[in-house]
Amino acid sequence: MSIITIEKKVLAKNDEIAAGNREHLRKLGIFSVNVVSSPGSGKTSILECTLESLRGKVSAAVIEGDVQTDLDAQRIARHHVPTVQIVTRGGCHLDALLVHDALQRISLDGVALLIIENVGNLVCPANYDLGEDTKVVVVSTTEGDDKPLKYPEMFLRAGVLIINKMDLLPYAGIDVARLERNALSVNPRLRIFRTSCRTGEGIGEWSDWLIGQAAKGI
Ligand code: MG
Ligand code: ZN
Repeated sequence: MSIITIEKKVLAKNDEIAAGNREHLRKLGIFSVNVVSSPGSGKTSILECTLESLRGKVSAAVIEGDVQTDLDAQRIARHHVPTVQIVTRGGCHLDALLVHDALQRISLDGVALLIIENVGNLVCPANYDLGEDTKVVVVSTTEGDDKPLKYPEMFLRAGVLIINKMDLLPYAGIDVARLERNALSVNPRLRIFRTSCRTGEGIGEWSDWLIGQAAKGI
């Protein structure tokens, strides 16, 4: 009983800080996404090829969340965008306060798009609003097509589903149509992109969607 009470208090405080982050980003005219997935779905790779695709079209910044190391932030920084790494030291999700602090440390001058890469975890990031405009959930073809049914909360709270590693489809044996059906049965409003960083499939379409959203924010 007391555990539930404490958790509720934590989430209420988180929501309050998230609302502040959202107001701050809106005032700056920045569209923001919170990218979530299981570990290994290819979030960082998607970010890398997306940043290349966005280059010269929209100015982006990235907040990287990881349990340990700044390896992913190093990969992102090579693409010449403002990048801040949050290391949670064991924490399994980002929260609004961590993002609030990261926002103080990142240069947002002229930025129209903020991409937050969450810690690889499909469970608790669903409950922690960071102040983003939308959550983007990534599932790769090497995972099961039942993911949306096993982690419905995340798919319910997301606005976008990216099905990644489409190039591995012939070997993975996943039924992509069933994955999409399962996802839409949980959340019919999901916008779906099929991508591969290796072949470039879907990256242009997904990038165009981001550009459209970022243009609305200005
Ligand atoms: Mg990563
Ligand atoms: Zn967690």
